[in-house]
Amino acid sequence: MNSPNILLYTIDALRFDAAFQLTALSGEKWSFFRNHYGVAHCSDPNYLAILTGWSPDAIKELYGVEVYTQMGSQFKKVFPTLPVALKKLRGYSSWAYQPVRVPRFYLQGFDIISWAPSDSISDPQMPAIRKMLKEMKSPWFGFVRVMDCHYPYLGAHDIPKDSQGEIDTDRVKESYWKSVQHSNEVLKDFLPWVLESYPNTVIILLSDHGESLGEHGIWDHLYTLYEVLVHVPLWIYLPDQSGRNCSGLTQHTDIVPTFCELVGLELEGEGQSWLPFLKDESPPPDREEVSLVGWGCHPLGSKEEVEGLTGRELWKHRAIRSKSWKYIVNWHQEKGANFQLFNLEKDPGEVENVISMHPDLTQHFVNILRRIDASFPMPTESSVGPAYSEIDREIILARLQALGYA
Ligand SMILES: [Zn+2]
Repeated sequence: MNSPNILLYTIDALRFDAAFQLTALSGEKWSFFRNHYGVAHCSDPNYLAILTGWSPDAIKELYGVEVYTQMGSQFKKVFPTLPVALKKLRGYSSWAYQPVRVPRFYLQGFDIISWAPSDSISDPQMPAIRKMLKEMKSPWFGFVRVMDCHYPYLGAHDIPKDSQGEIDTDRVKESYWKSVQHSNEVLKDFLPWVLESYPNTVIILLSDHGESLGEHGIWDHLYTLYEVLVHVPLWIYLPDQSGRNCSGLTQHTDIVPTFCELVGLELEGEGQSWLPFLKDESPPPDREEVSLVGWGCHPLGSKEEVEGLTGRELWKHRAIRSKSWKYIVNWHQEKGANFQLFNLEKDPGEVENVISMHPDLTQHFVNILRRIDASFPMPTESSVGPAYSEIDREIILARLQALGYA
């Protein structure tokens, strides 16, 4: 395939279980990755990994930069994102459709960026993108970020209270699932148009992170590293290949190497290209484990704390997910740390913390984590405390109100 167009389409905050409602992607040309992971629970570190191929930890090690607190312009000087490299080394033009009007280093190098309000509802025709494409020379790289499934879910600010005046969490969930249906309608309209207009286009479609809808007493995607937040769906369409199913463990940092191999580009990175698998030339990719990192906000912090960097620093999270297990550390600078181990085969909802029953396995994960971040606390018998999930109802309601459900 000679220099295909590349469409990187992200649906922000799409949970893994929402994948089964996206019938627009059910054709046999689509490859589906069912054990794909982000690198974190929130947007910026994940878009960074998707567009550069580096995890937040690698960036810290290579450049001494803490990703979450320094996502701004200083990155521009240090390293290329995929669209920048495609432009410089392969003559690609590039465009982006990005709803959050905040400068982010991963948006550097695009020829055109179309901004939309972050609470806007996508028009299934995607007129802004069609307009940009008219001005684009092929081959192009296009990056789409849609916010329909991000709170306040289709802009549904007015939902919430039941007849007793309580916030109606069922209706909050309902509006999330409606947003998933809407995303499907958009894809049903937009993708066939793209493929008809530009048949030589590779499409990758995924979510940056998931969304918590009350699981563990948590809403949205700002705290800890449960599966609903880090396990995301991913599909790939290659025009000259039939689709394959991958059940191996994969992560966002594999995406850049895959595109690089596709266009014959060599960029340094951490991940592994999926192209041999997609071409039916090798078994599915399958990592031993994936490492996850998070910066949580305290839901009852002040506005400055919740939105600012001090809030981000209150909770830190780390997790290692292997094929069958997940080890999570949640660390608060004043409250200390708690530690969780889940058997994901028996307990996919991460309900029963079995850390005290598996000291050897716990030590195995502690060793991995210590290699990644030696500053993180280690579990001791007295420190295996209550799960982070035990946030009381008042806090949940306050958080929902902060999201506009009031
Ligand atoms: Zn996001």
